[in-house]
Amino acid sequence: MHNHQSCGKEQRAWLPLPNGSVAPHPWCVKCGVVKNLTEDRAKKMGYWMNLLAEIASSFGISRAQRRLAALALQAYDGFDDMYSMTGEAQKKVFAKVIKKYFGISESVVYSFVR
Ligand SMILES: [Zn+2]
Repeated sequence: MHNHQSCGKEQRAWLPLPNGSVAPHPWCVKCGVVKNLTEDRAKKMGYWMNLLAEIASSFGISRAQRRLAALALQAYDGFDDMYSMTGEAQKKVFAKVIKKYFGISESVVYSFVR
């Protein structure tokens, strides 16, 4: 992973926002990802690791399963990319990984996310 480098002001891409309006979005000149301009900011890896531990404790998940889930999140490309990731997209990835390794449904996982 690199530090994203935004394109120049005149190169910004006009893209839609969730509210339907369009706005000039900066994007990274090294990899092309578009910057998240919404209020729905990504959370740091530490937040998700704490949540993973909390869910694991609540459901009596083994250490081995916890470790596999943690590794899967860390290996997920761009999961904690604060530049481009949205909180909503992160939540979905997290729930998918937890479902796979803990066997807990996504809606239950969502109930833990604050
Ligand atoms: Zn980049």
